[in-house]
Amino acid sequence: MSASTLAEGSRIPETVTAAREHFDSGATRPLSARIRHLRALRAMLTENEPDFEAALWSDLHKSPAQTQLTELNVVVAEINHALRYLRRWARPKRGPVPVTLLPGRARLVPEPLGVVLVIAPWNYPVQLLLDPLVGVLAAGNTAVLKPSELAPATAALIARLVPRYFPDGAVRTVQGGVPEATELLAQRFDHIVFTGGGAVGRVVMRAAAEHLTPVTLELGGKSPVWFDDDADLPAVARRLAWAKFTNAGQTCVAPDYVMTTPDRVPALVTALRHAIDDLWGADPRASGEYGRIVNEHQFDRLVGYLTGAEVVIGGDHDRGQRYLAPTVVTLPDGGRPVVGPLADHPVLREEIFGPVLPIVPVASAEEAVQVINAWDKPLALYVFSSSPRTRRLFERHTSSGAVVHNAALIHAAATGLPFGGVGPSGIGAYHGSYSWRSFSHLKPVLTKPLRPDTLRLAQPPFTARGVRL
Ligand code: NAD
Repeated sequence: MSASTLAEGSRIPETVTAAREHFDSGATRPLSARIRHLRALRAMLTENEPDFEAALWSDLHKSPAQTQLTELNVVVAEINHALRYLRRWARPKRGPVPVTLLPGRARLVPEPLGVVLVIAPWNYPVQLLLDPLVGVLAAGNTAVLKPSELAPATAALIARLVPRYFPDGAVRTVQGGVPEATELLAQRFDHIVFTGGGAVGRVVMRAAAEHLTPVTLELGGKSPVWFDDDADLPAVARRLAWAKFTNAGQTCVAPDYVMTTPDRVPALVTALRHAIDDLWGADPRASGEYGRIVNEHQFDRLVGYLTGAEVVIGGDHDRGQRYLAPTVVTLPDGGRPVVGPLADHPVLREEIFGPVLPIVPVASAEEAVQVINAWDKPLALYVFSSSPRTRRLFERHTSSGAVVHNAALIHAAATGLPFGGVGPSGIGAYHGSYSWRSFSHLKPVLTKPLRPDTLRLAQPPFTARGVRL
């Protein structure tokens, strides 16, 4: 740990206290303050585009176009959506009053929760830190941000910009890794939004339980693909390759593995090879659009998956550059490959989170459903089938954070749809009005006139008024 992060670590309780005092002052509650904060966040992103582009290139070899498309634009779209609907969301709604409580009226009044901690991963270090922040600020909270230490240039940039764009202290940043995150989690928050892996998700939830702090957990897992649509194979392969190998496969909703029938495997492999060539050229290493693996530990884990697998596309790698080519593997026959905790090969047991795509032959769509249901509920399920019956089969007989037909990844950019997992892939959801709901408390306010005094009917003595229970 560096001296600067140690110094920051020692200031953690003070940072959280200051965020709480700011919330308690009421300064973040008026709609005008929320709008000001959302505009400040938008300005922070749009006025510093070159700095964000440089930071993401340094951390992940993310090209300026990728940075625009998958980081900055996504957050700006979320801000614009919130600014458009904020007044509507914030308006108290009329609530129903049962006949037994009439006369009376009820309102549902949304109120901010307080101080919200946002802990983010490294793979989309801007989007996954600041997208939740949009909802947190729209709902009138203050925020403490903990960017990932594994995207250090982006974390340092955000830590430098936040005080400039939020001089009132509504948003504060704590940089650092596990020690700082652990100290942060020992503080009391009113909500925690965590995006990362399930193992750390459990640590976060345990720490939150100490203070009975509610959590939104955006986790990972193995998002499967079913493919049986031969009609437009080049388009399917292109969408699949793009979704899998963007950011070198380091995307929580990247397709993890593809299931299809054995007869379709050769044509799919050929189409994927063409698609990869089209997108990143014959040598993706030379493409300015192809990413790098975040660190050597992850690189070694991913290259390890190639042992015992048959590499049918790619496989080239260079540890010095943390480069691993877009790679497609099949697993040798030796019994049917079963995806899940009992699978022979680790590439079928663990979340891949990198540019290795296994193709898993199964007998039928029904068998693919069984494979999916035998394992944790995934964050997303992608179905490439023109058959309405097959689409329905997957929708009705599996459970996942989301289902997308004929594409992958894109639901993450669909502002207005809830984004999140189910079971081991996540708890709670956000984006658009769902962020608003997650980071507000919807408080029922019930008003009962004193006259006529109908509550007398519910008060003893009952026999005196002839009420028989
Ligand atoms: P991670 O869980 O290792 O780290 C996430 C954050 O938690 C980082 O800020 C890190 O500093 C912090 N952290 C790490 N160890 C901690 C500990 N012991 N106590 C407290 N905090 C700790 O995840 P990662 O490697 O950064 O990201 C990869 C994982 O995130 C994958 O599993 C991926 O699927 C998941 N992910 C999910 C989403 C989603 O939206 N659902 C998005 C991106 C990534």
